Amino acid sequence: ADRIATFANRPALWSGALPRPHLGSHKYERGHTLVLSGGATRTGAARLAARAALRIGSGLVTVASPPEAIGVNAAHLTAVMLRGCEGPEGLHAILQDQRFNALVLGPALGVHAATRAMVAVATLARRSLLLDADALTSFEGLASEMHQAFHHAPTVLTPHDGEFNRLFKGHPDLLDPPSKLERARRAAAYTGAVLVLKGMDTVIAAPDGRAVINENGTPYLATAGSGDTLCGIIAGLMAQHMPAFEAACAGVWIHAAAGASFGPGLISEDLADLIPNVLSDLL
Ligand code: AMP
Ligand code: MG
Repeated sequence: ADRIATFANRPALWSGALPRPHLGSHKYERGHTLVLSGGATRTGAARLAARAALRIGSGLVTVASPPEAIGVNAAHLTAVMLRGCEGPEGLHAILQDQRFNALVLGPALGVHAATRAMVAVATLARRSLLLDADALTSFEGLASEMHQAFHHAPTVLTPHDGEFNRLFKGHPDLLDPPSKLERARRAAAYTGAVLVLKGMDTVIAAPDGRAVINENGTPYLATAGSGDTLCGIIAGLMAQHMPAFEAACAGVWIHAAAGASFGPGLISEDLADLIPNVLSDLL
């Protein structure tokens, strides 16, 4: 891996791969992002991700939730479609529709075996996949189930330090390197997924050894729901066929630029609506 140079995460590395709609584009060509929502008291994360996926250009976005949560999601979402989905069987049924081409799985789903089973269903379905939060923590002590699990479809894992340490508990080869860059690289090689190790100096690492360090972060991003918004941005880019590593690099940079453009008082509800100004400078 040391033979591969590490770069600062600059737009020049990925801006050429940003999705650009053409005159004749229709919404189905711009991807369909599926966001899994928690139950009635745990729906906000999915809505933040869904709004961000729309703002980054995903042509369609669906939020799938347990039936009792459809009402609260419907009351707060307008352009987003809603589906009832109960557990891994429900997800399996929804994914029979091949048009869902990128998934957000994890935020507010709960830490339990059913969440792990949903990850397995999503992985087998071979769609672009973003795993965060409870989808990672549910594998606490079971990271070996993720060993080389993600080679078959573009997959991005977005742990913060706490989630990373829980997920890879018992894997000193991944946890011990003092360098965050090296930990992210090893975890990417281990899982076969793009690893986004979040924080003030987010590292994005690909299984093939490519890695960048993000430098445009702002501490105002340290606010509830910020990571959920990032999920929607990255998945929304993958839905538009941006490769996983480039989508992760672009997503992290755009998320940070959006936060920095607001500054003091930023809350996660603001973030998605700041994306268009950032995008128009990039496209
Ligand atoms: P989460 O903890 O899942 O809500 O994710 C928090 C998001 O905010 C991640 O994208 C982090 O990289 C970002 N973030 C948190 N704290 C900072 C910080 N001090 N500087 C820059 N970015 C941060
Ligand atoms: Mg989070």
